Order: sequence, then C-alpha cells, then structure tokens
Amino acid sequence: MKPHELDFPIVDAHIHFMNQKTQSQAVKLWSRGNQTLIAEDKKRRNKHAASLNNPPWEFPDLSGSEMAVKWQTELAENGISRGVFLCLVPESADFCEFIRRGQPRFWGFTTVNPLDKRAVAGLEAQMQGGGFVGLKLFPALQRFYVHDEQAYPLYELAERRGWPIIFHMGLTLAYFADVRYTNPLDLQPVGRDFPKLNIIVPHFGTGYLREALFLAYHCANVHFDTSSSNIWLKYLPYSFTLKQVFEKFLSVAGPERIIFGTDSSYFPRGYRSQILHAQLEILGQLGLSKEELRNILGGNIMRLLKQEQAPSDD
Ligand SMILES: [Zn+2]
Repeated sequence: MKPHELDFPIVDAHIHFMNQKTQSQAVKLWSRGNQTLIAEDKKRRNKHAASLNNPPWEFPDLSGSEMAVKWQTELAENGISRGVFLCLVPESADFCEFIRRGQPRFWGFTTVNPLDKRAVAGLEAQMQGGGFVGLKLFPALQRFYVHDEQAYPLYELAERRGWPIIFHMGLTLAYFADVRYTNPLDLQPVGRDFPKLNIIVPHFGTGYLREALFLAYHCANVHFDTSSSNIWLKYLPYSFTLKQVFEKFLSVAGPERIIFGTDSSYFPRGYRSQILHAQLEILGQLGLSKEELRNILGGNIMRLLKQEQAPSDD
C-alpha cells in the first residue's frame, strides 16, 4: 500500500516541533542544567541515530514560521494531509507561531508541568490562544507519577474541554529521563477516574507491551499510537514483530483505538517516510476494511480532536 493509492487523507498524529531555540530550552529544562547529563544525552542520541543509519541530530536555527514552511513541504512531499505536532517546552512563542502559520494542516499539543502550582491556570491561558487542541505530558522528564492526584485538576480541565492527553510512557531515548515514572498501567486510575478523557499512549507503550495491553483491557478511553521506529521490540526477552504488535492491539483494543504516527522530529532527517511505508505495508497485510484503515490512518485522531475533514482532503 502506498500513500497515493489511498483515497482518504493520512494524518500523522505524532510529530515533534523542534527548532534550535526550543531544543536548547528543552535541554536546559529537562537536564536541570546538569552539564554531564547534557553531554551524555547528546552522545546517546547520536549513537542511536547512527545505529539507524540516520544523520546526527540537528535543529534548524529557524523561526516558528520558517519551520512551518519546512514541515508543510515535508508533509506534502510524503502524501500526508495533516500533522499533530508536539512541543515539550511550556509556553513556547515559536511553537505558537508555528501552529498558527501551519493552519489548517497543523494541530498542536502543548505542555505544562503538572507539578507546577500554576499548571491549570497556565493551560487555561494556552487554551485561549487558539491553535492548540491537546496536551502532551512526559512523566519521565517531568518526574511525576501519572496517578498522582496533584495532576488531577489538569486532567479534569482537559476532560472538560475535550482535549486529549498524550502521555509518553515506557522507554525513552532521553538520557535525562527517570524511567520509574513510565509504567503504562499507572494510567489505569486516571482512565477510570476520567472516563471522558481521551488518553493516547504512544509507541504501543514503548516496551511495556504487556502493561499496555492490560491497560487497553481496563480502560476503553485509552488509545495507542503506532509512531517511532518501535526499536523497543529489540529489548523484549522474546521475539515479536511489529506486525504481531499491530495484530495484538487490533484484537485487544480494536481498530478504533489505534492511531498512526511516525514520531518525526529533527532535520536533516525530516519526515520519517520509512516508518510510513513500513506501517502501510503491515496494515495492508492485516485484512482490514477500508473504514478501519481510514480510521487508523487519520479518522481516529480526527474523531478525538473533533475535527471535520476539509473538502480539499477528499
Ligand atoms: Zn515522540
């Protein structure tokens, strides 16, 4: 299956906005200024990129508007109709500008630190600005347990406003991370207590395959995105292919809770077309109906975001 053979639009639900400015802000924030951690993080990222035959990580020294033009080109060249962009720097002016400039093809997921006393007010302020449609939280970097009731007012606000929350759970490339906070099953009380909150767990739980599947069983409001190289499969104590992961989630969570994404992020790598093509290949082998394919490749995320398809998408 190739993108141009599909007669419906593809939405990539997981792309990172990273220019030089936000990257250095993020490094400062998540390393807490620790130079040893910063050096180790860089080494780890470049080693990982080399192992995937990718160029080293670089972040363009461009404004939000200039980055928007760059990403619009990347999406168009790869047959992607729209993208959900994430940013891990709270209240980034560049990210706001990027999302504004990318309308109507970009949707933004902003962030706040759930342990910050001003988190709820900060999120409310960002909701007024327009352009943002969801929240991205990263417990291993923000160092909080997702079931910590300190974060509940934030979840309550997101639920009330119909904003989905993407929680990165599981393994991560970030050297700054503290993986004690990343078990997907910790989301079960959150899913239980906020039944109308749409939760997205990226990369099928990033290594916590069993826990992610158990979470799917417990919480009907948890969705899973397919993004990234899913290299975590390499670290399981048994052999499992990405195709088997798709089959397992289709049988446990169902096609309406699986959301396509690539986790594209830095340049010069740009859009991760290899991931798009590999996943289209797998999806083409699973005997899915056209409706199910359409939902996985864009319909599900649009439903969560309460977005209509633009006529130009057809
Ligand atoms: Zn990501």
